[in-house]
Amino acid sequence: MSLERVLNMKEKSKIRLKNTLSRKIEPFVPIDDGEVKMYTCGPTVYGRAHIGNMRAYIFADIARRALEYAGYKVKQAMNITDVGHLTSDADEGEDKLQKSAREQKTTAWEISKKYTDQFLDDASKLNIRPVHILCKATDHIQEQIELIRRLEKKDFAYLTSDGVYYDTAKFPRYGDLAKLDVEGLQAGKRIEMGEKRNKTDFALWKFSKSEEKRDMEWDSPWGKGFPGWHIECSAMSMKYLGETFDIHTGGIDHIPIHHTNEIAQSEGATGKKFVNYWLHSDFLVMSDQEKMSKSLGNVVNLGTLEEKGVDPLAYRYLCLGAHYRKRILFGEEIIKNASNSFDRLKRKVLELKENAEDARVIEIGSQIGRKYLDSFRSKVFNDLNTPQALATMWEMLEDTEMSNSDKYRLLLDFDKVFGLDLDKVRVERLETDSKTQQLLEERELARKGMDWKRADKIRDKISNLGFVIEDTFEGPRLKRK
Ligand code: AMP
Ligand code: ZN
Repeated sequence: MSLERVLNMKEKSKIRLKNTLSRKIEPFVPIDDGEVKMYTCGPTVYGRAHIGNMRAYIFADIARRALEYAGYKVKQAMNITDVGHLTSDADEGEDKLQKSAREQKTTAWEISKKYTDQFLDDASKLNIRPVHILCKATDHIQEQIELIRRLEKKDFAYLTSDGVYYDTAKFPRYGDLAKLDVEGLQAGKRIEMGEKRNKTDFALWKFSKSEEKRDMEWDSPWGKGFPGWHIECSAMSMKYLGETFDIHTGGIDHIPIHHTNEIAQSEGATGKKFVNYWLHSDFLVMSDQEKMSKSLGNVVNLGTLEEKGVDPLAYRYLCLGAHYRKRILFGEEIIKNASNSFDRLKRKVLELKENAEDARVIEIGSQIGRKYLDSFRSKVFNDLNTPQALATMWEMLEDTEMSNSDKYRLLLDFDKVFGLDLDKVRVERLETDSKTQQLLEERELARKGMDWKRADKIRDKISNLGFVIEDTFEGPRLKRK
């Protein structure tokens, strides 16, 4: 069989995914063979997403690409949380957007717009495909109110002086996803109870406080206020994907609270299973093992990387190099190594393109091509094992028996899942980047030798190549003009 035909064969039935619900790797069977319905918990747009956050979206994008690669049509919805996420996940503290608005002396609406745009811009640089339905919490207040009313009718909701709460004791499966020891929790942990009936109860609707000025608030059957953080995902996912759908993604921190509460709300209201497959990606941590988070002040965003001359896709490459259920360690050396490997890959692409033989050899090469294709597919389909899929790709690139044209075509096929834009690699850009880097090193030598004239000359050369040099405490950095 020719490589062309093999490349076009779809292998839907082979995908297996680790389902957080069962803690097992299960064969993936969609509800409706025509279309996989997938929901991704999106960003809270109170500040620029950091690269740890972006890992969660790169992962969702890879999952979607793998499904499409296998031949499924995918409908993906993602929310934008622009109201209701409080500074503590346990319904306490200030609304994150309102806080950011106060700090930046603007409105929560402006903050939402600014950071949604920023998020979409960053996502696009990382080659994360736009989702089919991007839905904002503030555009779906009515749907959220209706869902809370449904819960109220079924006696899952109760009123307190501070809002409407979900009574988790009424939902016997509460905590199944996280394997929470709910009874232990009730007995042990000291949690601010207020008027809550159970420690795990959570807000469905919060009332605006009289002493607090909010930019975002709405009338409701219970009083003026705003929705709790979790209800938006239940309301919007069910609106766009149906009351039961196939896949729900998010970071692992969502398991014990946010997703646990989504299940309680949705299944409480409908009496049906909410989601068949729950997929969770692990964290990006700093080399010192601390999670990257704004509150710890160790945040790196895509802009920080770009300022250091790192191609955003090199960060995507770094993410592909780790299984999504494993932590990624992050540090200067680590991203430098990923950038170097990604550059090596891009150079390889150019080499293959330049030296592609004519079509005669394709048939012979395809036998070997098939071997790599099978290997690649089995890795991707086995719970999205991208590090192993990358290893297959490197093995294929180093194969001395395969023709360059087969290698090139296989590489572009693999890139449908990797999403590294390998078909867009250009000689000029690569050469400019490495030439400029070399000039920067020469300028450093000149400066160390106190040859200021030469150093200035090199700076001009670098400027002509489209870069400026920023001198920082850690040394000079290149930045595209
Ligand atoms: P948020 O904008 O806070 O709602 O979070 C957006 C996404 O980023 C969620 O899916 C989180 O699980 C995920 N996330 C938060 N911190 C990290 C981290 N350090 N590494 C990886 N994912 C993270
Ligand atoms: Zn969510």
